[in-house]
Amino acid sequence: MKQTMPIEGKFELMSLPYAPDALQPVISAHTLEFHHGKHLAAYVSNLNAALPDSGLEGQPLEQIVLNAQGGILNNAGQILNHNLYFSQFRAPRADNAPEGRLAQAINEEYGSFEAFRDIFAKAGATLFGSGWAWLSADSQGNLRISQEPNAANPIQHGLRPLLTMDVWEHAYYLDYQNRRPDHLAALWQIIDWSVIEQRYNDL
Ligand code: MN
Repeated sequence: MKQTMPIEGKFELMSLPYAPDALQPVISAHTLEFHHGKHLAAYVSNLNAALPDSGLEGQPLEQIVLNAQGGILNNAGQILNHNLYFSQFRAPRADNAPEGRLAQAINEEYGSFEAFRDIFAKAGATLFGSGWAWLSADSQGNLRISQEPNAANPIQHGLRPLLTMDVWEHAYYLDYQNRRPDHLAALWQIIDWSVIEQRYNDL
């Protein structure tokens, strides 16, 4: 997995690879402005403030997630999770599905893309409280769907994260209020499967 290095001791807020209104109506510009510009920015600022004299200065973000505890782990985990989350989207498309090796692996593991989506959506909808639903791969390329609480990431279990859905209320409440399953169902329209396939093929 690609490592995210600090620059002069500090991590940067990732730039969105699309315009703030590009994901509408699935995710509004208003939600993106808060989610990326306030929530993620705060995790970055908090981590940068906590790193000096922590013994973790200079490590890549992914190593900090594996080595840290407490507040540093929570903020670093949330940065890693959100970097993966925000970089996996593009403008809505009605007919949107994976291709190639990843599509084949999904069909082998779950029977069909539709069956995979149902299992993944259920993982997101039934996660109690705040957290993330994940599709990951093990070192053999086998796929796993999991629920991770709060700021946790599959790399903590030796897995490679491919696709994620943020089920913290801040990810959807402005647009969907309490209707988390509706938000998760809509997200399939904006997944950039070329990004997910690239993560899968980068074994
Ligand atoms: Mn979030």
